[in-house]
Amino acid sequence: MNSKPHIRMLTGIFLITSVTMGCASTQQRGASGNNATFDPSAQVEAATSVLRRYEAALNRADVDGIVSLYAPDAIFMAQHRNPAIGRTQIEAAYREIFEMIRLDIAFEIDEVVVVSPRVAYARTRSGGTTTILANNAQISERNQELFLLVRDDTNSDWRIGRYIFSTTTPPPTAAKTHVPVLEEVIVDAIPVDPDVGVATIALKGGTYVVTDGIWQSAFVVTSRGVIVLDAPESFGTKLRDAIAAVTDQPIKVLVYSHAHKDHIGGSATFAGIPGLKIVALDSVRRFLEEKQDPNRLVPNSTFSKAKTIRLGGKTVALKRHRNYHSDEGDLFIYVPQSKFLMAVDTLAPGYVPFMNLDLTSNFHEYLKVFDDILVYDFDVFLGGHLTQLGDRADVELTQQYVRDVYETTKRVHDSTDMMAVMARTAQAEGGWDNKYLLFQAFLDQVTAKAVAEVQARWIDKLAGVDVFVDSHVRTALIYVRWDD
Ligand SMILES: [Zn+2]
Repeated sequence: MNSKPHIRMLTGIFLITSVTMGCASTQQRGASGNNATFDPSAQVEAATSVLRRYEAALNRADVDGIVSLYAPDAIFMAQHRNPAIGRTQIEAAYREIFEMIRLDIAFEIDEVVVVSPRVAYARTRSGGTTTILANNAQISERNQELFLLVRDDTNSDWRIGRYIFSTTTPPPTAAKTHVPVLEEVIVDAIPVDPDVGVATIALKGGTYVVTDGIWQSAFVVTSRGVIVLDAPESFGTKLRDAIAAVTDQPIKVLVYSHAHKDHIGGSATFAGIPGLKIVALDSVRRFLEEKQDPNRLVPNSTFSKAKTIRLGGKTVALKRHRNYHSDEGDLFIYVPQSKFLMAVDTLAPGYVPFMNLDLTSNFHEYLKVFDDILVYDFDVFLGGHLTQLGDRADVELTQQYVRDVYETTKRVHDSTDMMAVMARTAQAEGGWDNKYLLFQAFLDQVTAKAVAEVQARWIDKLAGVDVFVDSHVRTALIYVRWDD
């Protein structure tokens, strides 16, 4: 099953072949001079000829020919393998390889240095094609090599005494580039004083946003008390300090946008506030009653679809729209006097959505949530996360991104021949037994193609594309394949 990576490791062994072995690329250095009869320049050609013969034998898959070029006590140090010590182990290594691959490779000799009558070294680089016998697939590889050449005495032939190589092709993961966060996103970030831990931003109409730079909540000050909108786990106590810093009004209402710990896990710091109403969906209350989490107070004022809170001349409208994020349900929280809309875990202004499209439990509904948001008359949008406030343009841009993820994934999925991918994988992996492995290869190929397209289009428009686009495509792919 692991034969493919195994093959890839071993191919480098041979990439030392068909030489562009111009003598111009070789050089020679004199020995120390204590042997007046030894002429090192005369031995460069002889040493180089070992490399030529090695190259030819590799391309013929001639194990006997290869082994005869090694000294009896030689050591072959292939990348990702233990050293093969002595001709018996070396022969076994080459036989194993030629059961799997054939080579058509060339190498460039960068230097051949004869150090003494019995020791020389050569440094080379190689490149070419490896054919995998199981499926005739061809792989291109490049390597660099170091040969230590030895001989018994001045009348013997040069042989390979030590040989080590490594690939010069970067590993696949290195191709994934992580780009700096977009300059405009950094400029727009709300500054948070580390000594305070949170920043408070006043909006019109008595609404305040509180953030620690990663999570966001809000509160509305009225003439008869304060309405708090979420109590994040990361700054529950600091949220109460932030409220006290702008008003003497008592906290009367705490609203839960949804049941997730990171947004309401700071509610325990509100325990003991006299007469506190904790407002949430019925479904959220049922979930929290079952969980009995000491950090998440159980709501005492619940509803199933919509509710309007009126307090001290201010209005906060709550509405459940669809199952776009958490399975227990999510609320849009709208404060009309502030033209403020809070729809937590839908999008993060400036950034692509969080992993798996904001952890959506229902991509079908998530696709439509942006239209629901845009129906509202708002100037300030709060998504519950990261560094800035949003507006309508942020919602529209994220909507375009999500549609692109969906449409690209669907097009690539529908135009990829699943059986062909599975057949190629079965050949490379030695059979059809592991059905999951073969199907995964299909999903991976669709994902890789869609990711490449989407990333190219969005990398300079939203931050974090390179981090989460893979998870976004995989979420869309589940929908495209099983629901769409
Ligand atoms: Zn959430």
